[in-house]
Amino acid sequence: AKAAGKGRFHFYQSQLSEYLLMRVSREEALRQAIERDEFVLYYQPRVDAATGKLCSMEALVRWIHPERGLIPPSEFIPVAEETGLIVQLGEQVIAKTCAQLAIWRAQGLPPVPLSVNVSALQFNQGKVREVLAQYMARYHIDPALIGIELTESCMVADGANVPLELNAIRKLGVKLLIDDFGTGYSSLSQLQELDVDVLKVDRAFTKKLSQSQQGLAFFKAIVSMAQALDIEVVAEGVETAEQLRLLQTLACSEVQGHYVSRPLPADEVPALMRQRFLF
Ligand code: C2E
Ligand code: CA
Ligand code: CA
Ligand code: CA
Repeated sequence: AKAAGKGRFHFYQSQLSEYLLMRVSREEALRQAIERDEFVLYYQPRVDAATGKLCSMEALVRWIHPERGLIPPSEFIPVAEETGLIVQLGEQVIAKTCAQLAIWRAQGLPPVPLSVNVSALQFNQGKVREVLAQYMARYHIDPALIGIELTESCMVADGANVPLELNAIRKLGVKLLIDDFGTGYSSLSQLQELDVDVLKVDRAFTKKLSQSQQGLAFFKAIVSMAQALDIEVVAEGVETAEQLRLLQTLACSEVQGHYVSRPLPADEVPALMRQRFLF
């Protein structure tokens, strides 16, 4: 029995070290990818729900792996968060967003605002405000063209300096968007205090729109609450004409989702900018 116990211990130990090894190698791979600049941004349009007019685009990161090709964020953002590398990666995302706006401007395209995702860890540990200020200045970007998407968990994090920091960021002139709204626990008063510009309602609620009266009522309540606070509402993950129709009856401001467009590589964006109305 003793021998078996020992064997088991060895088994666990080797599994553990295998796990650690894998983690370390994944971290190392990610670190290298950041150094080698293997990340690119895709852009997904957000359009006016009533007219289909292009309003803004969300920058979504992808890893172009030299052997594996395009890797979606679900496969590396969690590792980036666990290891803290999200801070550096998030800085690259901000830098690339500003650089891209400058490229499109140089091509004579009409300016379209972009929003970037900022993870809670990046917000708490990084210098988001400084980085935004630095790259907007470097590329001469009008701050009104930049938005940051933060989740509710970020808003309600303990540190009393969250509202202070957000305020300082808002003072730069950039927009504040709440991502995945409805999945967390932010309150009405918090949204008002933080001077939020846009609520992006999580796609789980868009899905429920056409599934039940309750789903519709929930969305309706968010829209009227947001209207009262002078906050715009974007429905995420709009995939069908029926969802769009329902959102139009609720007077939801904007929609984003596969029904309008999937996220696109930068070189496919100018055509959309010229098109202007996407449905
Ligand atoms: P998110 O911020 O909620 O972004 C929306 C995600 O939904 C994107 O996935 C987008 O491709 C997907 N999507 C858009 N429309 C539809 C639709 O109609 N149906 C469905 N089923 N999905 C749709 P993606 O690009 O794979 O990104 C996943 C998540 O990774 C993002 O969720 C965001 O949390 C994170 N992420 C992406 N880029 C960054 C980044 O630069 N920094 C950070 N911190 N996180 C990022
Ligand atoms: Ca987002
Ligand atoms: Ca979202
Ligand atoms: Ca407002």
